[in-house]
Amino acid sequence: MAQTATEPQTGDSPAEPAGERPVRRPALSPSRASDFKQCPLLYRFRAVDRLPEPPTKAQLRGTLVHSVLERLFALPQPERQPERAKELVEPAWSELSAERPEWTELFAGEDQAKVADWLGSAEKLLDSYFSLEDPRRLEPEACELHVETELDSGVRLRGYVDRLDVAPTGEIRVVDYKTGAAPREIGEAKAMFQMKFYAVVLWRLRGVVPRQLKLMYLTDGQSLAYTPDEPELRRFERTLEAIWQAILKAGKTGDFRPNPSKLCGWCSHQARCPSFGGTPPEYPGWPEPDPGEESPLDRAD
Ligand code: SF4
Repeated sequence: MAQTATEPQTGDSPAEPAGERPVRRPALSPSRASDFKQCPLLYRFRAVDRLPEPPTKAQLRGTLVHSVLERLFALPQPERQPERAKELVEPAWSELSAERPEWTELFAGEDQAKVADWLGSAEKLLDSYFSLEDPRRLEPEACELHVETELDSGVRLRGYVDRLDVAPTGEIRVVDYKTGAAPREIGEAKAMFQMKFYAVVLWRLRGVVPRQLKLMYLTDGQSLAYTPDEPELRRFERTLEAIWQAILKAGKTGDFRPNPSKLCGWCSHQARCPSFGGTPPEYPGWPEPDPGEESPLDRAD
């Protein structure tokens, strides 16, 4: 279950009608900001048109592994062992597939052996996780932490941190598990963008620049650690503000241009993309209330 760390709501937040879902103010998420940077048209398809994207088995496996790691850290420290983690795989998948029955469609017509192979591939990622660290020696402050803040410019940032470790001295480490199938070198710049996004949010929420941003690549059992500094985060804040302004400008006119790159190979929308001979649907207008939403699949790339 995701936890939440947000600043107090400012007075201009819409009032929450009794018995109704709170109105979420427009915010930038790392996934959508990264989409816009990569290709404005991809951002439009995902955040404005909200076109469905069938998940891949690799994405589902990533969501499953994130869920298992969250459950693992809910166990008493001595129990956080590889075999115990593997025991969590099936119950976690049962729960995820009950919550999102459409995800099981990917396995329609497949026999149990194929599903077992896929679950086994999730167990391999967990083995890889244990080769990188010993969770019995860690006590994270939070897993799957929802974080949200507003910059002085009024730009609102929102996201989910896989894990937050806080040392007794107050030093913060932001940890992100990477389980995606894309080659690591393709995703690395995007991953670091995401980590700096979280660093800015946590710095603004807590007044402390995170000591370390740690990416754990479970597909190849490697990790990458980075130490940001305050001037860098200030510059990055300006980058995020510029991205948000560019999104709002494109949102008014509907002018979201394609930006073809080697990442198009992972795009589900080639058939609608002018760069591949397609035609986008008619622009539906700027969505209300929130074009910045992330799905659990975004968070488990
Ligand atoms: S195929 Fe490439 S250029 Fe076209 S929308 Fe997707 S990412 Fe953008």
